[in-house]
Amino acid sequence: MIKKLIRRILGTKEQPASAANEPTVLGAKEHAIDPRMLSPNAVKVTKTLQDAGFKAFIVGGAVRDLLLGVKPKDFDVATDATPEQVKRLFRRAFIIGKRFQIVHVMMGQEQIEVTTFRGASSDGAPKDVHGRVLRDNTFGEQHEDAVRRDFTVNAMYYDPATQSVLDYHGGVADIRSKTLRMIGAPEARYREDPVRLLRVVRFAAKLGFTIEPATRAPIAVMAPLINNVPAARVFDEMLKLLMSGQALACLQQLRKQGLHHGLLPLLDVVLEQPLGEKFVTLALNNTDQRIKQGKPVSPGFLFASLLWHQVLEKWTAYQTAGEYPIPALHLAADEVLDAQTEKLALQRKIASDMRDLWAMQPRFERRIGKSPYKLLEHPRLRAGYDFLLLRCESGEIDREIGDWWTAFMEADGAGREALLAQKPKDGGEAAAAKKRSRRRRSRRGPGKDAGGAEGAA
Ligand code: ATP
Ligand code: MG
Repeated sequence: MIKKLIRRILGTKEQPASAANEPTVLGAKEHAIDPRMLSPNAVKVTKTLQDAGFKAFIVGGAVRDLLLGVKPKDFDVATDATPEQVKRLFRRAFIIGKRFQIVHVMMGQEQIEVTTFRGASSDGAPKDVHGRVLRDNTFGEQHEDAVRRDFTVNAMYYDPATQSVLDYHGGVADIRSKTLRMIGAPEARYREDPVRLLRVVRFAAKLGFTIEPATRAPIAVMAPLINNVPAARVFDEMLKLLMSGQALACLQQLRKQGLHHGLLPLLDVVLEQPLGEKFVTLALNNTDQRIKQGKPVSPGFLFASLLWHQVLEKWTAYQTAGEYPIPALHLAADEVLDAQTEKLALQRKIASDMRDLWAMQPRFERRIGKSPYKLLEHPRLRAGYDFLLLRCESGEIDREIGDWWTAFMEADGAGREALLAQKPKDGGEAAAAKKRSRRRRSRRGPGKDAGGAEGAA
């Protein structure tokens, strides 16, 4: 009844689930997939499974990307073998996952994800009060597996042995018209798994596809459902979104679809801070470029940049309240990280990388004595320096500091000494250091400070 009402309001029609029991099969000439773009390891996995008498296909995003002429970043395989049967066929294979069991098959450095065909219906599966499917490990036929996938362009299967593509839901046509279309009734599919609300946005931005109207209509209405998804899953999806090579476009799409507000605290911070907008835009652009060039991007760097202006704001506030600069920075970092870990499940390693990057920043501004030499030995110097350059580029600090560090890092011993002898243009740092040391002396009271750390710097 309620479902019917929502459907009437949204004007969506339910697609008959039985529409596609038999796939359309496309041969090599029709789909023009370049076999050189395949991962030899993924082909090995499908062959091993097929030789053991099972069905096995490359599936999902890899087939979509291959059809678009893009080299896939990873390969998933679907099979009618059960997880235990898969595990037995490979030397290094691990069954993981609770909600959906999958097998990670390790081939050298590469990890191929192998999933068993899912059964058609999640009706009997345990759900939360909002209808989110909690666990579902019923296996089924290939056409049932296809219905369970999210978008038509993600529900195609490629057999490397015959070079044929099996298309159950008109995915090939949607690839050609650049359309993102949910399989089945969109609103029911979002309810089963609200993460699909974020996926639709990510794929639209990443692929440059248009979201088909019935798939788009429920998004804004159903957005609050994301609140019930475990933080770790939202975090994984956010990371994929930010590391898609189209992070800026993704964030713009999130905004356009009404998904940015109040849902993800990180995004509220990022999208609604006027001061940091330039910095965040630069950081995301930088990330997008690196990903497009195949360079590594660390999640720690990414999140540290996204939250930097929030840290800056709190850092200033603590200093205004009389705190010393370094403890003030640590207090600000704690506060920002605490607020994010609560909802975003920032992993500990990422949080500690972020803290490292932030803590390094004031050290770049001390260009006297031994300080710069000590900083050169920091294991994360390169990342800290990249972060510093972003700060310069955004206009937050003087470009001269970045240039000085570029020169200092490239110089030899004598060159470094010459740079250290150079007075900063405004004499700011030496003056600031003196002021700090004066302040510290006066706080500690007379006679206690005998030119310790501050004097050495
Ligand atoms: P990417 O290029 O980001 O890897 P992908 O489409 O391969 O994109 P994955 O998260 O790797 O995305 O998932 C692999 C496949 O599993 C998808 O193509 C889709 O068929 C299916 N899938 C993944 N997540 C969901 C979901 N939440 N609901 C339904 N199907 C899903
Ligand atoms: Mg994938």
